[in-house]
Amino acid sequence: MSTRRPIVAANWKMNKTRPEAAEFLRAFLPMFGTSCASDVVIVPPFTSIPKASEFLQGHPLVGLGAQNMHPKANGAYTGEIGAPFLVELGVTHVVLGHSERRQYFGETDSFINEKVLATLAAGLTPILCIGETLDERDAGKLEAVCRTQLQGGLAGVAADQAAKVVIAYEPVWAIGTGRTASPAQAQEAHLFVRSVLAELLGPALAQQIRIQYGGSMKPDNAVELMAQPDVDGGLIGGASLQPDTFFAIVKAAADSVA
Ligand code: PEP
Repeated sequence: MSTRRPIVAANWKMNKTRPEAAEFLRAFLPMFGTSCASDVVIVPPFTSIPKASEFLQGHPLVGLGAQNMHPKANGAYTGEIGAPFLVELGVTHVVLGHSERRQYFGETDSFINEKVLATLAAGLTPILCIGETLDERDAGKLEAVCRTQLQGGLAGVAADQAAKVVIAYEPVWAIGTGRTASPAQAQEAHLFVRSVLAELLGPALAQQIRIQYGGSMKPDNAVELMAQPDVDGGLIGGASLQPDTFFAIVKAAADSVA
């Protein structure tokens, strides 16, 4: 059993207006008792962050995330949002390098790396997403792709900050498709990711860094996925849009270390 505290994040993507975010949180937050064995993060679209923040500011159990961040703090970057804008809203975590950002917005490992370093410098926790496409998996390139994305994304991360980084292993073929990696496939990939973290940062830090699984995780497959020794939580898209299904996944994560 892992001694790492799981972390489960709700990536709402481009869903939930402010009233919808409020409705979710009004239903979701009372589901918690006074403690939870898993960290939980809600990641709304930018415009719903202030509304979510009203519910989550100072909440002892649930963090607030952003789906992206520009590496510069401010300046002539039309349409972008830098760290100070997120910090003033109470944001604690930032999802970086999601496959949708890589695919639709051309984000490269070096640009993602600038963002990772900027989040850490601002006291934010980066959730760095990596993962192979189906073509890459079929071509036997899973390891090469994940290694490149980890090496590129984590370049220059200082040893005293590395334990804070969260990695989300998200096989692209499993995101939003209903096709989940089997628990064995997830564990194999997570073990490999941890071995690369050990090469890059040393074995002690590699043991501390949490690796989420993402890709069609649902209440009915979460228990088995979370039971894998190197799966330390989940990054959840579709199943995070309903309070009860998301809470069931949080519970699976918390129970996996209970
Ligand atoms: C995601 O977008 O990070 C994700 C895992 O989505 P889904 O759960 O819908 O596959």
